[in-house]
Amino acid sequence: MPFSEIQSKTILRKQKKIDSWFIMQHSMNLYKGCMHACAYCDGRDEGYFVQGEFSRDIAVKTNAIDILRRELDPGRKRKPFRRSFMLLGGGITDSYQAIEKKYELSRQALELMLEFNHPVHVLTKSPLVEKDLDLLQKINAQSRAIVSFSFSSVDDLISEVFEAGVAPPSERLQSMRRIKAAGIPCGMFLMPLIPFVTDSPQMIDDALKQAQAARLDYVVASGMTLKEGRQMDTFYKTLEAFDESLLTEYDMIYSGDKWGNATAEYYQSLNATLYAMARRYHIPLRIPQKIWHNLLDDNDRVVVMLEHIDYYLRLRGSTSPFRATAYNISKIKEPLSSLRSNLHLIKGAGNTTLRIIREILDTGRCSYLDKLANL
Ligand code: SF4
Repeated sequence: MPFSEIQSKTILRKQKKIDSWFIMQHSMNLYKGCMHACAYCDGRDEGYFVQGEFSRDIAVKTNAIDILRRELDPGRKRKPFRRSFMLLGGGITDSYQAIEKKYELSRQALELMLEFNHPVHVLTKSPLVEKDLDLLQKINAQSRAIVSFSFSSVDDLISEVFEAGVAPPSERLQSMRRIKAAGIPCGMFLMPLIPFVTDSPQMIDDALKQAQAARLDYVVASGMTLKEGRQMDTFYKTLEAFDESLLTEYDMIYSGDKWGNATAEYYQSLNATLYAMARRYHIPLRIPQKIWHNLLDDNDRVVVMLEHIDYYLRLRGSTSPFRATAYNISKIKEPLSSLRSNLHLIKGAGNTTLRIIREILDTGRCSYLDKLANL
């Protein structure tokens, strides 16, 4: 397998606001490209500027740890980091692909997280993450660590077609059980659900059943985006070999949206399925508050909770103003607790939203969200 060693100018990537899917504001990619070679991987999209053949030409950011140390050093920062999980993985690479055995960049990054007392969220498809269980346990005891594994289904045969370079789902589930047994919260990112392949009620039911049997803490699920260019070309080659007749179905739901989204009708129907299945197994479809509630400041806690409410309502087929209000709150610099008498000035916040915000500020909890999440 060819690989190159490259120098990176930065490692930490900052989001404009707290991300309520991963409960993070910073993420890092220590490699570029991914040997796991999933057919649907959106890391192939030209917008990520990964040079060469995505699954073969792996680039190793050999100066990553020096840069990361500099970026984490509190003495060099004008403003301290807002507290949330730092995400290791996701996007254009998997931090625990096989090349990690040689370079150990992920392990060294975790050592820095421990040294600088940062909570960590690892997202991977590889049981290789277990080599760092000792460090994850230390981080979890000190500041919190969680591990998520991604799946497109729990079917080993389907996985062999669409995720040929990864450990089969059955092995991933076993790994998750061991991680949970070591005391680390662990959940499933059931994404992407591949349209007409892994998004059927039966396939989703199987995944949630396995998640429940493994006592996972959450299942965060989502449909697939498919952008024109390298991602779509690669995926369609695999799909065609799997079942050529599906190409027509894909034409119906992917109609050239700039972000690769399928039609709104498709996502609505997927949401209805997810909602019905999650109710059967009583599994949270967002990372639950018990895992992160004392990590975030008041503003971020309100933003995440409003976005989670919005998600659960959309799952039930309703629309809500909560996501837009959450976005407006994310722009507020002052702590919400210091603005108590002026909360009504928040753009988009009606009486119900204000009641929710006050409850969160007073108690750290939101009874409405608890009700919605208790599917
Ligand atoms: S493991 Fe993730 S980053 Fe790697 S190819 Fe698969 S989807 Fe892409």
